[in-house]
Amino acid sequence: MSQYILAIDQGTTSSRAILFNAAGAIHSMSQQEFTQHFPHSGWVEHNPEDIWNTVRDTCQDVIRKGGIKASQVVVAGITNQRETTIIWDRETGIPVHNAIVWQDRRTAEYCESLTEQGLESFINDKTGLLIDPYFSATKIRWLLENVPGCRERAEQGKLAFGTVDSFLLWRLTGGSSHYTDATNASRTLLFNIHSQEWDADLLELFGVPASLLPEVKDSSDDFGSIDSDLLGASIPVFGIAGDQQAALFGQTCFKEGMAKSTYGTGCFLVLNTGGKALKSEHRLLTTVAYRLNGVPTYALEGSIFVAGGTIQWLRDGLKLISMASDSEPLAEQTPVDHGVYLLPAFTGLGAPYWDPNARGAIFGLTRDTGIKEIVTAGLQSVCYQTKDLQKAMERDGLRPIALRVDGGMVANNWVLQFLSDILGATVDRPKMVETTALGVAYLAGLKAGIFASLEALEDQWQCDRRFSPEMTKGNRDSLYDGWVLAVNRLQSDRTTP
Ligand code: ADP
Repeated sequence: MSQYILAIDQGTTSSRAILFNAAGAIHSMSQQEFTQHFPHSGWVEHNPEDIWNTVRDTCQDVIRKGGIKASQVVVAGITNQRETTIIWDRETGIPVHNAIVWQDRRTAEYCESLTEQGLESFINDKTGLLIDPYFSATKIRWLLENVPGCRERAEQGKLAFGTVDSFLLWRLTGGSSHYTDATNASRTLLFNIHSQEWDADLLELFGVPASLLPEVKDSSDDFGSIDSDLLGASIPVFGIAGDQQAALFGQTCFKEGMAKSTYGTGCFLVLNTGGKALKSEHRLLTTVAYRLNGVPTYALEGSIFVAGGTIQWLRDGLKLISMASDSEPLAEQTPVDHGVYLLPAFTGLGAPYWDPNARGAIFGLTRDTGIKEIVTAGLQSVCYQTKDLQKAMERDGLRPIALRVDGGMVANNWVLQFLSDILGATVDRPKMVETTALGVAYLAGLKAGIFASLEALEDQWQCDRRFSPEMTKGNRDSLYDGWVLAVNRLQSDRTTP
């Protein structure tokens, strides 16, 4: 009988379960969206019970849909929205509060106070991260300070913290596993990426009791087994990784210098730097790409908060297009040098600017600017932002030897051709674009012996289409110079209330 791998992909807006066969092909898939809560401006929460219910239901559904027996699912893996923070009671498994989501900015003021105390390089040296509400530690601190009784119960060892992977693992194993993997740990601001341990100085700085924390394991490791009551068989969990790291793994970017860029709502460019934790001088993050057999592989990461989100806004906010894919024929009819620049800084600017107070703008409007130019500028903004990351990497002395792309936007050929033109580099789109779920299926399948080696996985990667630069250097430079000018104008504009 055929064997299957269950990949649980718990994302920001939906939970998905995918069954992969032993050749790494999709057998069946199930997906459920859940509610986003915005209790105050800049706050974003999820109900952990929604996260749990959608994961449990999609796991049950994907096995039913696949028409297989639960016992044919030989191993499972979890990949997840990163940094999102949950604290729950060890006795009852009940969370003390909603999950505080990675996008939540409620700890911005506290982060500013840390920066003012000059702590950025102390924290960056240990964690590879910057001081920003994005990461988990300040969210944990907020829960300890603001949920009545939380700090006392935490200090008595009665509570557990986890990113979403840990919380799901706890629930899936009936409370017997409190683990995370090194990729998720590396996004908390509490994990020393060099010693690969929770850092006592950082725990003290953020006031986090060590008893709250999960044990950190490899990304491909024995995390315990899913209760047989839940899915009809006891299934070992052998893989955990944060979503962007899982996508890097699914793209089989195992060699130093290989990079992947995922174009979903946001965009995350992750470059494998091998065994070296390189320190960026240009505000990229240093992070754990994956950890196998106790050995970490590191990456540099650039996070752009709004990529495909711009296209959603053009569709749902401005109603300039009725479907995201309408953007492609419009751009095809528009010369690339139309002079309009759209800066989608709806929630500030991410890497390499890290400017939480910036807001969006459109520059270069003339009397003959129309829908075509604005939509095209929206698509181009995603490519210019990637160019910003490429520049930051170059200033750090790095240039990816290959760039593999995935995410919903890469269906758009025009975008990938312009991306290749503006980067002056080839861009490869794989046949299998479900790279996040595939990555954690690979991690779990490696430990289960379904896949023999990283080399065997590399052989599975297939190119759907390669995009190569066709633009002259002069045109590339002049287009990008216009973008840089627009960003400078945006950042100098502090007149908006
Ligand atoms: P996420 O996982 O972040 O929800 P997806 O990877 O599913 O995102 O990608 C969806 C995003 O891609 C949406 O923001 C959508 O606007 C954008 N998108 C989808 N198809 C296209 C297209 N053909 N052209 C441009 N953008 C697209």
